[in-house]
Formats: sequence, C-alpha cells, structure tokens
Amino acid sequence: MENRNARYAGGKKTGTKNTGRKPAKEVKASVRQRGEKSITSEKTAKPAKVAKPSATSACRIDKKCGGCVYLRHTYEEQLAIKEKQVRCLMEGIAKVRPVTGMENPYHYRNKVNAAFQRKRDGKIVSGIYEEGTHNVIPVSSCLIEDQKADEIIGTIRRLALSFKVRIYDEDHGSGLLRHVMIRRGHVSGQILVILVVASPVFPSKNNFVKALRAAHPEITSVVLNVNDKQTSMVLGSRNITLYGKGYIEDILCGCRFRISPSSFYQINSVQTEKLYGKAIELAELTGEETVFDAYCGIGTIGITASAGAGRVIGVELNKDAVRDAAINAKLNDIPNIRFYADDAGRFLTEMAARGEKADVLFMDPPRSGSTEVFMKAAFEMEPSRIVYVSCDPETMARDLRYLRKNYNVGEIWPFDMFPWTRSIECVTVLKRKNLRK
Ligand code: SAH
Repeated sequence: MENRNARYAGGKKTGTKNTGRKPAKEVKASVRQRGEKSITSEKTAKPAKVAKPSATSACRIDKKCGGCVYLRHTYEEQLAIKEKQVRCLMEGIAKVRPVTGMENPYHYRNKVNAAFQRKRDGKIVSGIYEEGTHNVIPVSSCLIEDQKADEIIGTIRRLALSFKVRIYDEDHGSGLLRHVMIRRGHVSGQILVILVVASPVFPSKNNFVKALRAAHPEITSVVLNVNDKQTSMVLGSRNITLYGKGYIEDILCGCRFRISPSSFYQINSVQTEKLYGKAIELAELTGEETVFDAYCGIGTIGITASAGAGRVIGVELNKDAVRDAAINAKLNDIPNIRFYADDAGRFLTEMAARGEKADVLFMDPPRSGSTEVFMKAAFEMEPSRIVYVSCDPETMARDLRYLRKNYNVGEIWPFDMFPWTRSIECVTVLKRKNLRK
C-alpha cells in the first residue's frame, strides 16, 4: 500500500547469484533471454552514456508532479549528484563505492498507480495529485512508468466513460472508481489490473472486464480492491478477483515469485537483481549458516539466499506478503526456509530472549529505517555479519551509527533504483567486532 504521490519518493513505502534452481516452467523467459547481462558478469559500476530526456520526450508535468527532480541533468550528472549525497551522509561512517546505474534508465517502474477524477466538464482524467492538493493532473505517459501499464490506464479511462462508471468524489464521498494500479512482471510479462473502488458493487463488471481484455489480451488478472475509507492510502484491505489468479508471478534472481496486490515488490527489477546479487555476495554464505531475513516482504532476499545457507528465517509485518513468501518457498522447492508474520523488532527480541543465535542477518527496513529495539535484539543474537539494504541513506546512516558500537561497517554500495528521482538505494555489510564480555 502506498500514498499516490509517494510513488517517486523511493522504494519501500517504499547480480544474480546463481542459486542452482531452475525457474518454474510456466514463466517462460529468463532474465538473460530478455537481453540483460548476467549479473555475475557485470563488472562495471559505470552506466552507458545517457543524455538528458530530449525536448520531445521530456515530461510536460514534471514541475507539478515533483517526482523526477533530475530531468535537467544528464544521467551521469544525476548519478554523480546521488553519489555525492551518499558520501556526505556516510562521512565518518564508511567509504562509498561508485553508484551502479542503469543502461536504460526509462520506463523501469513495474508498478503504476493512477488516481481518477471527473472534471467539471464531465471529462474523466487519471494521473497524479498536484502537490499538496487532491486535484488530479492528467498523465497519459511517463518517462519512468511501464508503457504498457500507461496504455491500459488510458483504455480504462475510455471504458469508464462509455460504461458510465461513476468516479469517486472525495469531497462528497460519493462515486465508485478511485484509482487504478497495474503490476507487470518484468520477466513473465504477466499483468495485474487492480481497480480500486469505494464499494464492491461495480455495475456491469463482467462486461467491463471483457471489454478491457479485448483491448489488452495480455492482461492476466483483474482484481477489484475495495477501499471505502477516507484515506491517502491507495489500496483497501479487501480484494475480489474478477478475472485470472488475483496476483502476478515473476522471476527475480532465477527464482519464481508470486506477488499479491498489496505485497511489497521492488519496482525496478533490473536494478534489484544487481542489488540483491551484491547483498548476497556480501553475506559470504558457506551453506552452513542460520540466516535471518528481516523485513522480508514476499521473501525475495531469503529465498534467493537459501541455496547458500543452512536455514533461513524470514519475518515481515504484512500478512499478505508473508502468505506470498510461504507460497514462494514452495514454488521454488525450498525446504530450509520459514516465514513469520510479526513486527521485526518484537520477533527478534523474542528470539534473542530464547537464546537463539544468527550467523547472518539481512535487514531491509522501510524508509523510516530500523528501530533500537530491533538493533538491540540483533546485538544479542550475535550474527557475525549484518547485510543492511536501505532505500533511504539518511535513516541508514542513523542506524549504522548505532550498529557500529558492536560492528565494523563495510563499504557502502549505492544502486540507482529510481532514476530521475531523488532516491537512491544502498547496501553494506557489517562485521562483528571481537567483543570481550
Ligand atoms: N526485503 C523485501 C521487502 C523490503 S520493503 C524486498 O526486497 O522485497 C520493507 C518491508 O518491511 C515491507 O514489506 C514492509 O511491509 C515491511 N515492514 C515494515 N515495517 C515492518 C516491521 N515493523 N516489522 C516487519 N516488517 C516491516
């Protein structure tokens, strides 16, 4: 779940290590077949030369949207700015490596949200909220969103008009259609359309879905998400599947993942493979370790790491994501992994109180970072390595200052997961100091 205008403000909240497992049969293409380089052979951190968006392709609403703050720079300039920011924040904490950028930093978002509004002249528009208001600025295409998703949203706008679907009116709390969210599997190509509505009663829904599928046969599932609350969160808690399975599957780092409407999934699959590849490399697994995957979402890091570990324990607050994670372990035939639905701090504290130890701890918290409760419990579990993945270097720096009481902080590896926006993702490994008790 996320706030509409938080969509460009970062990941949560927003190198493939070969695991030795084959991707499942139904999802045909592999990462390599899609023309991506194998991550293990990716040596350079330097991106190809990418110019500024040209006058014709540049965004016309960037000032109102506020997401892509670097459109007036070249891609290289923007990477240099981000790297400098991370260096500043990590001053006195750790050395920073060059940022790993994208070869093609456009249309990378595999999840797209659009707010719907009916204007006074009767026109239906969809797009983003103008900063600080609930006025919807129309978006028909976007430099960073998946293009197919934008096309489908355009079709839904037209169908909403012809099917006389009532558009939700925030001021009066009346009407039906509030948002549309699209998720598209980067490798699988599967497409989930989520119609966010204020009430489960959607007149002519079967014909609506039929017309939508006729226009876009590539859609694999359509879900009605009921959000009847006055809230800035896009998704409500109830999902009704109108067509297909109600979720998408995708391949990431050679493993197969099921992703439900409200589960967190990194929005830039190309960069995620590089990031997770580095995270797992930094963990230096030997096949024996007890590994914790904290803030695990649908289990992507733990499942990718499991082939190299003795056993893996994942913990995550979102129950739907934990359900996905358990199913994902089965889909990939992984016997040595367990997932728990809990607050990560509380869960680790209980584990520590029971005297449980960890060898390696992966932590990938939301933008707000981790908590002292979590990090205290982490100290008690005495992992020899902590791999910290973060989408906000500011909270990461704060947490590293705390963790370095007991751990030596390794180099910071920044990855540009969100080109043209302000955000940057980082990973590092912390190694336990030789502490005398
Ligand atoms: N590692 C996963 C998810 C990272 S996003 C991936 O890369 O896909 C951060 C995750 O932390 C989200 O799934 C969010 O639901 C979860 N989360 C947020 N607060 C939490 C808490 N207090 N305890 C456990 N999980 C939490």
